[in-house]
Amino acid sequence: MIYELERRAALEAVIKACNLASAVQAAHLAGGVLDKEDKSPVTVADFGAQAVVSEHLAAVFPRDPLVGEESSALLRLPENAQLKDSVLKHVRMITPRLSEKDVFAAIDRGSAEGGSKGRFWTLDPIDGTKGFLRGDQYAVALALIEDGQIRLGVLGCPSLPLVSLQGQAGSVFVAVRGQGAAITGTEQLQERKIRVADIANPSDALFCESFESTHSSHDDMDEIVKLLGVKRPPLRMDSQAKYGILARGDGTVYLRLPTMKAYVEKIWDHAAGFILVEEAGGKVTDLNGKPLDFSQGKTLVKNKGIIATNGKLHDIVLSAVQRVVHI
Ligand code: AMP
Ligand code: MG
Repeated sequence: MIYELERRAALEAVIKACNLASAVQAAHLAGGVLDKEDKSPVTVADFGAQAVVSEHLAAVFPRDPLVGEESSALLRLPENAQLKDSVLKHVRMITPRLSEKDVFAAIDRGSAEGGSKGRFWTLDPIDGTKGFLRGDQYAVALALIEDGQIRLGVLGCPSLPLVSLQGQAGSVFVAVRGQGAAITGTEQLQERKIRVADIANPSDALFCESFESTHSSHDDMDEIVKLLGVKRPPLRMDSQAKYGILARGDGTVYLRLPTMKAYVEKIWDHAAGFILVEEAGGKVTDLNGKPLDFSQGKTLVKNKGIIATNGKLHDIVLSAVQRVVHI
């Protein structure tokens, strides 16, 4: 099967990062009262997850560049020695025997720029950092892009229950172009094919949006669902877990409605989720109905906002969005 090696390596890498992240989150939440100002747990998980994914990919595909969200510059500062020690401790729980130099090098392998030519991976080591800190949803998102086209995506959601596979804790989604989408668990590798929901009437749909109203306009969403006569209130959730929910048919529509003109979406926030929904039979465009363009470097500079649907509802949702949102 084409991309078999890449698929396996990406799944292994993301599951390692999920295990690291949930260990960091469990240690953080076990502290009882959360210090809302203390962002260090997510910083540890961010650096740690990028290190283990990058190290794992480099061992299998040493020539493949990686476009990651993090660089090690912050960790090298003397005042961040404690943070660095915590990152090293958590990385070594997953990948023993890595030196400090190895870990820095792994993180910094993620400094590629992307673009329209050749092949690279893109990684959001912890997508949904606010959800991670709240003890809600977050995701490890990895995708492979060749000549601007997404070929493969793996989305690990350690806190998203895997309902249909015997109650395993986390859900891991995987999709390869032309091969469909599947779900597996963070603790077992039995796979099941997934499909988007077969819903043709918007009133029966479940709409999903960001938990954070600064990331996607809740007010515009309220108008859109009213216009379409949607019965259920929108589901608010952090991270690309929303794409996973859509791909497995639990949700029907995911909207990302711009809150500020200047914001441009990052490729690592959508690459894995995008192929997952498409391969599960859904459709993803921007608010103008244009396909997402992953060939422009680190950002989706040619696109505004996101509309992801089960396919059947795409046109009707697109026209409702365009009546409400003026971009
Ligand atoms: P979500 O959890 O779906 O709200 O998305 C989290 C992602 O939102 C983060 O990874 C950020 O890259 C991204 N983000 C940050 N600021 C904004 C913004 N103003 N508009 C849209 N997305 C944003
Ligand atoms: Mg993100």
